[in-house]
Amino acid sequence: MISADMEGATGVTWTDDVVPGTEQWQRFRRLFTGDVNAVIAGLAEGGATDILVNEAHSSQRNVLLEDLDPRARMLTGRHKPLSMMEGIDSGVDGVVFLGYHAGAGCDGVLSHTYLPNQITGVWLDGVPASEGRLNAALAAEYGVPVLLVSGDDKTCEDAHDYAPDAATVAVKQCVSRYAAICLPPSRTSADLTAAAEEGMRLAGRGTPRTTSHHIDVEFDASHLAQAAAVIPTVEQTGVRTVGFDADTMTDAMKAFKIVTAIADGAVQGKYG
Ligand SMILES: [Zn+2]
Repeated sequence: MISADMEGATGVTWTDDVVPGTEQWQRFRRLFTGDVNAVIAGLAEGGATDILVNEAHSSQRNVLLEDLDPRARMLTGRHKPLSMMEGIDSGVDGVVFLGYHAGAGCDGVLSHTYLPNQITGVWLDGVPASEGRLNAALAAEYGVPVLLVSGDDKTCEDAHDYAPDAATVAVKQCVSRYAAICLPPSRTSADLTAAAEEGMRLAGRGTPRTTSHHIDVEFDASHLAQAAAVIPTVEQTGVRTVGFDADTMTDAMKAFKIVTAIADGAVQGKYG
């Protein structure tokens, strides 16, 4: 399975590059699809026989199906219970985090966690958590190894900590949140294919392990924490923070999704 986010795709450095409907987005969808195809090629060369691409960015309608490598199937569109990781519970042997990015409050190209700005930090069991770390914990619950992580160099550094065995490909070097030294797709696609093939050595279902988890979320304004704290199990733990416990990582991610949805709905114009 490939969980395909867009901020960490080849060449992407700017808001318009990833905002659906913009001219730049139309351009970068092609580069993003190219990254996806490069990974599909490597997974197939490494022995994968059934590859599911799960769109994980924004409206989750970014990859160009008409250009997709025919060896893969694609799950596209929004409103999926496990969101970026929908399909992880369907018996897959490995997952690739493609086009991922650094977490909220960290240095990295287009760094964020779920919401673009309003979340300033997330902690999983007390450890600062990017989307990659959260999703790796969810994959672990189903016994699914992370095979490969791609994004900028900060994304790869993060992955070395939460998925130390996974292959990594830095398609760009972060200069600032909106600037990077980028490699052309002709180079990144070769790197992605080689790393995906290498990552396939980890494929195979491990032992599922269900454990309880605690998640803390920090917002950039107090009313967002107040809004999120109406959710049963979610408690306001500070002026701008909430926290909650969950019996499983699946439940934790579902609760986190609700927290982000309610906070997003409470954002008010310019003041946020
Ligand atoms: Zn993302």
